Amino acid sequence: MIIPVAVTSSSACKQELPLINFQKGLTKMESLFHNRNKDKVVVIMGATGTGKTKLAIDLAKHFQPSEIVNSDKIQVYKGLDITTNKATEEECDGVPHHLLGSFDPTTNFTANDFCYHACSAIDSILQKDGLPIIAGGSNSYLDALVNHCSEFRLRYECCFLWVDVTLPVLHSSLQLRVDRMIEAGQVDEVREFFDPSGVYTKGIRRAIGVPEFHDFLIAETNSTDERTKMKLLEAAIARVKINNCTLANRQRQKIQRLNGMWKRNMYRLDATETIIRSGTRARKEAWEDHVLSRSLVILYNFLYG
Ligand code: ATP
Repeated sequence: MIIPVAVTSSSACKQELPLINFQKGLTKMESLFHNRNKDKVVVIMGATGTGKTKLAIDLAKHFQPSEIVNSDKIQVYKGLDITTNKATEEECDGVPHHLLGSFDPTTNFTANDFCYHACSAIDSILQKDGLPIIAGGSNSYLDALVNHCSEFRLRYECCFLWVDVTLPVLHSSLQLRVDRMIEAGQVDEVREFFDPSGVYTKGIRRAIGVPEFHDFLIAETNSTDERTKMKLLEAAIARVKINNCTLANRQRQKIQRLNGMWKRNMYRLDATETIIRSGTRARKEAWEDHVLSRSLVILYNFLYG
């Protein structure tokens, strides 16, 4: 049985949520959730850096027990935790995750692999009477699962939450995120996946933030002078920033296309304010007002409505 738990929240969040009818809601939910032909699955989409991971974890803590199935094609591999921006253990906050850092980074994890492993993870979550929450930026994987996997289509009903941020705001925030990754030790992490022959077409080596450092890492092995190395490092960081912004643009376009198909069950949540407001408290309030409380209302309707 999935039990909605009150999250610590701003006043707006508390006002909007039907927590007062908790017991009544549960009784209604029990009959609806278990008697319908199709089991329910929540899907959280969004371009890189919009807050999908945070939303998945916040929702999982609210609807207990919930478990998260990662749908980022690079985060499925072991390694490069900083570069691929995997949720840390602290951020996961005890919420179980599937397909996160689980696979050999030298192999190619395909869309078919994703469909197979995501379906078995969802099955195992449902067997525990939990709510499966799929979250990640790889829209081709979601497309394969929802549109092309007949087993999934037949068995599950989805609610799609699209976390969106206007592009100029997202671009500046992605650039700052790259600076934070560098400070956190991205270069040391990437050195492990450096391929002197320059092949970055398989597994985790395709991650943005790996091939971009190739010239710098070559220079390091050749003991090139410090000034040249510094220039190569700066150029690599600039390329990582550009490639992240390009990725965000492409992901957003793909989501807009999917929105055309799934719009009946898809909801756009504008998280722009959560980035542009200044101060931790103001950003937290914006998150609760613009993203979390809206998502909770949508999911209450989806699960119990
Ligand atoms: P495509 O068909 O273009 O691969 P997709 O929808 O399958 O798109 P995306 O998540 O948009 O998957 O990933 C596209 C590319 O972006 C990946 O091949 C990789 O280079 C990069 N990428 C995706 N996720 C990450 C990540 N977490 N860290 C670093 N790079 C990533």
